[in-house]
Amino acid sequence: MAYPTALQLTVLQVNSNVQPAIGNYLLGHLNQKGALVVKYVGRSDTDLNERLLDHVGEYEHFTFQYASSEKVAFEQECRDYHRFGGEKGSLDNAVHPDRPDGFYWKCPICPP
Ligand SMILES: [Zn+2]
Repeated sequence: MAYPTALQLTVLQVNSNVQPAIGNYLLGHLNQKGALVVKYVGRSDTDLNERLLDHVGEYEHFTFQYASSEKVAFEQECRDYHRFGGEKGSLDNAVHPDRPDGFYWKCPICPP
């Protein structure tokens, strides 16, 4: 699933657009063509609205999508991490996405 057009990362935009639900998000800034340059990928297993509010002030723009389960959100975050070069140091994420406690799902991209 493709992420929608990025919004400004402000309290107003987050509260106007994002529900307290499971989902994924991308943070960054817009390039000269208006495309989001992704610098951070993340997810919330409980409350995407709250998680995005925590990032207000850290990045200029965001985009997000809901996920149907924690497993879907974890696998999406893994794909985002690799797609935007996390393992090559292109993201501000310090480490590879982690599973929720008590689950043993594997990254769909990393070699087994
Ligand atoms: Zn991986």
